[in-house]
Amino acid sequence: MKTFQVNEEGYYGEFGGAYIPEILYQCVENLKNAYLKVLESEDFKQEFNQLLRDYVGRPSPLYQAKRLSERYGCKIYLKREDLNHTGAHKINNTIGQILLARRMGKTRIIAETGAGQHGVATATVCALMNMKCVVYMGKTDVERQHINVEKMKMLGATVRPVTSGNMTLKDATNEAIRDWCCHPSDTYYIIGSTVGPHPYPDMVARLQSVISEEIKRQLQEQEGRDYPDYLMACVGGGSNAAGTIYHYLDDKRVKIVLAEAGGLGIDTPMSAATIQLGKLGIIHGARTLVMQDENGQILEPYSISAGLDYPGIGPLHANLASTKRAKILAINDNEALQAAFELTRLEGIIPALESAHALGALAKIHFKPTDVVVLTVSGRGDKDIETYLNNIPKA
Ligand SMILES: *Cc1c(COP(=O)(O)O)cnc(C)c1O
Repeated sequence: MKTFQVNEEGYYGEFGGAYIPEILYQCVENLKNAYLKVLESEDFKQEFNQLLRDYVGRPSPLYQAKRLSERYGCKIYLKREDLNHTGAHKINNTIGQILLARRMGKTRIIAETGAGQHGVATATVCALMNMKCVVYMGKTDVERQHINVEKMKMLGATVRPVTSGNMTLKDATNEAIRDWCCHPSDTYYIIGSTVGPHPYPDMVARLQSVISEEIKRQLQEQEGRDYPDYLMACVGGGSNAAGTIYHYLDDKRVKIVLAEAGGLGIDTPMSAATIQLGKLGIIHGARTLVMQDENGQILEPYSISAGLDYPGIGPLHANLASTKRAKILAINDNEALQAAFELTRLEGIIPALESAHALGALAKIHFKPTDVVVLTVSGRGDKDIETYLNNIPKA
């Protein structure tokens, strides 16, 4: 049977692998040899599940959105990752990785962050576990996301503004990799999405797979069958989407629809639709689709949503797109904004701008009235209120 999971060599089809500097080889090798053993050990599972329950607040509800369903002529359930501690799905992954880091004897944590959401989730678990924490963040983002910077500092993390390149996420990631090269023995690098060298994409997908594990159980309870007709999520690097679809990858009854950020439109230079616009290349240690110019230089992506503004895409998702297992839609800024206001008015839920891209995809699909749709609301909109206020739809 064809599988969409990673193979022994760390590839999903032609995507993935570990393209790393020699100095990190042993580090990544150690991680590769440790992660499955740890993740599958009883001792890890017990501590992870207990923290997910008592600290994060899991299981997150699967909420039947009746008014939204009526609007789109199907039965829509929202998977409420926005209700997690720290406001998004990212905490599932950071808890898992810090437990692994401790078991590997590491004493210092580094992370990269764009909008600051992964930085806050990392600083949070470092406070919880009393670990040193350094977060790399592009200087442009430090200025744009001041509140998250203050949160990280309050949590005890050191935030290092990065002034190379465009001073955004890709530059912060380069700087984090450079730090890791200088401190390979005591430092653990917590990557925030299903990106980076093998085994990170697989590890992050497994840690987020608690989302689809819960969806199965919750659908069985509420619908009397454990699978939906559609699964929908937004994709930046791909972690909330990976978690949403993980246990359904090989279940052909389930259609997968993923929303990437179209920005001002895929026919303009202002876009972050990596799957539509990217070409095969190497970014941050993995072979995947990359937005690049004719010389292979990485292009700066654009989206109104900082969390989707990444010039690469997880190798798992690149493979799902290339094998057509998933349908990928580019949702533009204005479509996402409309969808965010619509959810707010219909259901009283203000979604994160990233999640609003998944909601924006609802209008692009022709549903049957009997279709059961599960859409993941990856985060809450508190961080985006200013953007929403500046972009109130006219109609
Ligand atoms: C970071 C973030 C995303 C994008 O990251 P993925 O790894 O693609 O899930 C989506 N939604 C929210 C709320 C985020 O904070």
